[in-house]
Amino acid sequence: MHAVGIVAAAGSGSRLGADRPKALVPLAGRPLVSWAVEGLLAGGVDEVVVTVPPADREAFAAALPPSVRIVDGGGTRTASVRAGLAALPGAEAPDVVLVHDAARPLTPPDAVARVLDALRAGARAVVPVLPVVDTTVLVADDGTVADAVPRAALRRVQTPQGFHRATLEAAYAALPDGAELTDDAAVVRAAGIPVATVPGDERSAKITVPHDLDVAEGQVRR
Ligand code: C5P
Repeated sequence: MHAVGIVAAAGSGSRLGADRPKALVPLAGRPLVSWAVEGLLAGGVDEVVVTVPPADREAFAAALPPSVRIVDGGGTRTASVRAGLAALPGAEAPDVVLVHDAARPLTPPDAVARVLDALRAGARAVVPVLPVVDTTVLVADDGTVADAVPRAALRRVQTPQGFHRATLEAAYAALPDGAELTDDAAVVRAAGIPVATVPGDERSAKITVPHDLDVAEGQVRR
């Protein structure tokens, strides 16, 4: 099995309040994207494509090893992953694709390996998930609680998400232009394909707001 990682790194990071694209924000002195790429490779991915904001290609090239392919991303995550998929080599290899957020710098190799193992075992699509520990509610437009949502069956979905290449390509091809979904499993599910789950990892948390970066710095120090 030959696995390629697509790292979505074309986001702006406005919620982080940074002066550069989020994927270039340093964690313990190294850009988030460099950690994310390293995590995929350490977990068993063979090669990596990174989708970046077109204006920042050079900064990304300086931050990443020369073996990593850099591709211009799009205006939404969906468009960025589409661009990454289009840039994959032809022929048969790779046969599986792992799509990962650059904003998840500390994904342990084991978490990546669980996704690859599920694909090896026959899943066409697989996502890492974690339970929801807080009470979860629906809130009405006026700010009051409308209803509680039983949390036993709820899960938080992480990346990397793994797919047989042909499955992911067909699902993206079937998605209308301009459609915007927050992850790749949603694209595959929209095409009617079942998505398997494996356990995720709290250390694979996504960096969104400044507090997340503080937590990640603490994780690196430990
Ligand atoms: O904004 P959010 O944190 O949900 O983005 C998840 C991932 O998708 C990030 O790693 C971000 O860089 C990436 N992204 C992208 N292209 C966009 C928007 C987000 O590659 N246009």
